Amino acid sequence: MRLISSAVLFILFLAIFSGCSFGIIQSSQPSEKAVKKVQKENTHSNQKSESQTEDTPSVKVASQKNEDGLPVVANPDSVSVLVNKQYALPDNYAPKDLVYPNVPFLFQNKIEKRQLRKPAARALEKLFAGAKKDGINLAGVSGYRSHVTQTVLFNNYAKKDGKEKALMYCALPGTSEHETGLSIDVSGSDGKYAATTAFNHTKEAEWLSKHASDYGFIVRYPEGKEKITGYEFEAWHIRYVGVAISKELAKHGWTLEEYYHTVPVSK
Ligand SMILES: [Zn+2]
Repeated sequence: MRLISSAVLFILFLAIFSGCSFGIIQSSQPSEKAVKKVQKENTHSNQKSESQTEDTPSVKVASQKNEDGLPVVANPDSVSVLVNKQYALPDNYAPKDLVYPNVPFLFQNKIEKRQLRKPAARALEKLFAGAKKDGINLAGVSGYRSHVTQTVLFNNYAKKDGKEKALMYCALPGTSEHETGLSIDVSGSDGKYAATTAFNHTKEAEWLSKHASDYGFIVRYPEGKEKITGYEFEAWHIRYVGVAISKELAKHGWTLEEYYHTVPVSK
């Protein structure tokens, strides 16, 4: 019994120090301008899709919704999977190729949040090496988070503050991109401002926004796209999508939502 309590406490400890502050939820509705912009782009993409149907990226969903009523993605293992407040991972999803990327983290232990899926981990090693060449020393803050950890974390906050309020600062289980094993929060190697808005205008943040796409990563919640992603600007949260997509997004200034032509995420 004592062992079980200790295990629960340990999970809670990990969860809390993994941080749930990422993913501050936009409670406001998308502005008319943002909606029109996306509608316009949708129209444009529809026109394009008539001649290039097979090239048009689309979100693939399973026939059943999850218990929160959200569509569940049918391709959770794809490196280009879309996971956000509108598209969830299957409840039982766990990546099968998690590894420990060979890069410095702000902590020493080999724990869950030090892991990433293999393709993301190998690309992250190259990204860190590239940053170092430019005099930017990065460190990992928080990578993979299991569905169980996210559930414990969310339920804990919901118990304390109520579900509505918890949703303002913590992603629903299944909708945190950290559960894909393709996303990681990074900081400067001194850990200053790690995963806080103060990081957003540091030289490390500037380097990431300029160069992440060269390594197959995107700054997933960029500045000015809050109404589309549903997240405040998080310069520290990078997501692996592979070089082909990261470069396309960088070229057009798109978020992953815009790439897939989904409606803006508002809650
Ligand atoms: Zn994050």
